[in-house]
Amino acid sequence: MERRATCHCGNLALLCTGEPIKVSLCHCLDCQRRTGSLFSVAAFFLKDQARPAGGPAKVFRRGSASGFDVDFHFCGECGSSLWWEPQRMPDRVGVAVGAFADPGFPMPEQAVWCDERHRWLELPDAIAGHDRSPARGGQGG
Ligand SMILES: [Zn+2]
Ligand SMILES: [Zn+2]
Repeated sequence: MERRATCHCGNLALLCTGEPIKVSLCHCLDCQRRTGSLFSVAAFFLKDQARPAGGPAKVFRRGSASGFDVDFHFCGECGSSLWWEPQRMPDRVGVAVGAFADPGFPMPEQAVWCDERHRWLELPDAIAGHDRSPARGGQGG
């Protein structure tokens, strides 16, 4: 199966082959600022499952709670943040699930940084919640 994650304007895309190795929801304040929403949902693929199309992407690097930097790849035209590469897990890429525009995309199996969750936000019981991150660092999954 191939899925296409696309930015808001369509200039930048990421083609993902096969199934994600993990889908993870993050409530952390950094994800809230990045998305402008209240949480982010990331689909993690192995890097060789994902290839960029269009672009070029711009890159914003910042540190994370794990102590490792994360490189966020975004569209220079519309600003959508499409995928990120956590240096803690150099074989993986996290992809913004909303960019697939697919309501049938597999649901997250876990939620991390629940201690920064907006209090009114209730998630299904099937999503395992963690106060912070089970693997240290909310970006890594
Ligand atoms: Zn764009
Ligand atoms: Zn986060």
